[in-house]
Amino acid sequence: MSILIYAESSDGKFKKVAFELASYASKVAESLGTTVTALTINNTNSDELAQYGVSKVLAVSNEKLNTFTAKAYADVLKQAAEKEASKLVILSSSTDSIYLSSLLAVNLNAGFASNVVGLPISTSPFQVKRNAFSNKAFNITEINTEVKIIALAKNSYGLHENSASLTAEDFNPSLNDADFSIHIDSVEKATGKVAIADADIVVSGGRGLKGPENWHLIEDLASALGAATACSKPVSDLGWRPHSEHVGQTGKPVATNLYIAVGISGAIQHIAGINASKVKVVINNDPEAPFFKVADYGVVGDAFEVVPKLIEKIKAF
Ligand code: FAD
Repeated sequence: MSILIYAESSDGKFKKVAFELASYASKVAESLGTTVTALTINNTNSDELAQYGVSKVLAVSNEKLNTFTAKAYADVLKQAAEKEASKLVILSSSTDSIYLSSLLAVNLNAGFASNVVGLPISTSPFQVKRNAFSNKAFNITEINTEVKIIALAKNSYGLHENSASLTAEDFNPSLNDADFSIHIDSVEKATGKVAIADADIVVSGGRGLKGPENWHLIEDLASALGAATACSKPVSDLGWRPHSEHVGQTGKPVATNLYIAVGISGAIQHIAGINASKVKVVINNDPEAPFFKVADYGVVGDAFEVVPKLIEKIKAF
């Protein structure tokens, strides 16, 4: 039996999370004395997975799967797991994969744990650590079913190269019309150059920016860093920025390597959505702003003075 991962793609290219899953699964495989098989859908770049420890790819090529359909994808993964006799299936915590994981868990009669961080605490019994309570606490979950499914929290393991020799095999799962009976159209409203979901760095602005006319500060800093732009809830409520940029408890969750908050107070509902980010930086002119309590680095100062200087320094670097 090998560990099965679902290596997600977008427009025929692997998402970064596919390599993170491969890195993670190959480490888990080492401790279980097994190998990693990746399921890919409409992606011809299988070789890229080898450097992260994947030794076999099941490559599905089917035009009907160009659009994500949870039921069909869950059926494909079920058939792949059965073919490989996989007792452990690992997916990401992307919106699509979380949707798909619960259906797959039903299909395979498997226990499922989402938001997993770190390597399993123990493989027998199988215990994993998970983010809980909006990333403010951890929870230890034990899965006792024969087949186990876990969804890894984004950016929680990182990329680790571990070359393996790879064999790729065409895989043609049987699908019927009922698999495509529910169709969901998704529209990604990307305002910045980098999508929040794929970003390593996010620069986010709050009400301290005073108005939309000052948003060039956020955009210029983001562009100097190759980052995505985001905002606090009031900023999108006021119409300064689109709702697709709103992050926090009621907005998009962010788990980046670097989150820079400019003129954001750090209300609990905002922090809940960005707490999983590795390094948090705040720029705020009020030293008492709650954000400073959770930040790794903070600048007490006027955003209108600090941000242009920061951009200048980054560009000169
Ligand atoms: P403010 O609270 O107005 O803070 C502005 C900050 O800018 C202040 O700290 C100020 O010191 C600083 N500032 C002012 N001028 C400058 C300057 N020149 N330079 C530098 N700093 C400056 N909020 C979210 O963001 N996301 C959510 O998902 C979310 N969900 C919510 C859900 C519920 C049920 C509720 C009740 C609230 C939610 N909120 C959410 C709102 C949240 O409680 C806060 O009101 C909000 O996050 C505050 O946004 P802000 O920090 O941009 O604005």
